Amino acid sequence: MGFSTGNTFCVIMKSTFDCNLNCSYCYQKGVSKGSSYPRMMPLLIIKKTIEKFRDAGYKRLELQWIGGETTLPGIKYFRDIFDLSRMYSDNSFQVFNRVQSNCTLLNESWFSALSDFSDVFDLSISYDVYLDYFETIQEMPEKKSRLIFNKIENNIDRLVEDAVDFGVLVTVDLERNISPREMFDKLIQKGIRKIAFQLNYSHVFDFGISSKGDLYIDFLKEMFKFQYEHNLRNVKDKVYIRESLYLQRYIQSNEYSASSCHNHASLCNSYMWSIDTNGDVYGTCDSFVRNFDDKVESIIIGNIAVESVEGIMFGEKHQRLQEVFFNLRNESKCLKCSFYKFCNGGCPVYKSENNSLETFNDKSGYCNYMRKYFSLIENEDVNFFHSAI
Ligand code: SF4
Ligand code: SF4
Repeated sequence: MGFSTGNTFCVIMKSTFDCNLNCSYCYQKGVSKGSSYPRMMPLLIIKKTIEKFRDAGYKRLELQWIGGETTLPGIKYFRDIFDLSRMYSDNSFQVFNRVQSNCTLLNESWFSALSDFSDVFDLSISYDVYLDYFETIQEMPEKKSRLIFNKIENNIDRLVEDAVDFGVLVTVDLERNISPREMFDKLIQKGIRKIAFQLNYSHVFDFGISSKGDLYIDFLKEMFKFQYEHNLRNVKDKVYIRESLYLQRYIQSNEYSASSCHNHASLCNSYMWSIDTNGDVYGTCDSFVRNFDDKVESIIIGNIAVESVEGIMFGEKHQRLQEVFFNLRNESKCLKCSFYKFCNGGCPVYKSENNSLETFNDKSGYCNYMRKYFSLIENEDVNFFHSAI
């Protein structure tokens, strides 16, 4: 029996930090590619990760592959991972892989793997939706970015044609004059039915200092409305938007616990870690892997190549990090906040100014974003999406 809040543990795995694109919004742009790290995670580390979580008694291990461009190490590498996942899965323990990719390298071998390994593998695509936006964020010659964008579009069409169950992650840039109607229609016309939005990180901090962030809330409201209208008309072909799904879960769950990692009732590091290419274990999501300046040491809690899951879980470093997370989540300001019942004190790292694991003030962009996002729950205009999912 596993010792976290459940029987499932999620590990964000770094296959590589290398990437074949150059997205200006990438949160890992400044990450050290230091020579002390393997360029790609050795299979031995992956094997040990699986074995150690099995030995710790978990029933399900979800390996979320996030790069760099995850697929760069190639299809053979991933076929080996999928084979391992199958080999270790039985009635008492299952391994499942979720691969996040920019979709540029998908080819016939990948399409075959999607069908051969659908029991242990699914896919999420980072998608910029518009060619002119893609061109803006890639610092590369126009001709090249056009070719690449066409490849992405064609690969998405192929996934739809093959009836692959995939989702897309769309970064929303407030500098652009986005028409939610146009974007929704394009996504639907392409056959995409699972959508997650991510506000460009540089804009999250706008929430604390200006009303510019409100544009994102308005954007979401419009998207929820279109989702509702679509789903009423197409009960057998519904569209799912992650951000509305979260709100619905907040409303439905009596304990206000089923939601995103930021607001889950349990501390994220009791059910999610990240593992770097050298086996270093971070007690956070991958946003902070090699990406945390002087605080980085405090969130590295062990190394999976040399320690057991129990050893890391009950080790001093993990316990100290949990203490810090717990106290930051339960600051007096949060405990008095009317949104605490949904927010649970939020992400301890993001909510502090400059992501510094310190207390926050009223200008915290993250906290101001959370308040506006949760206000949608009580906003009558938005309640229309309840029955649509
Ligand atoms: S560090 Fe923050 S964003 Fe990352 S998993 Fe934890 S709560 Fe979520
Ligand atoms: S909305 Fe802000 S003040 Fe309220 S619980 Fe969340 S982080 Fe704390």
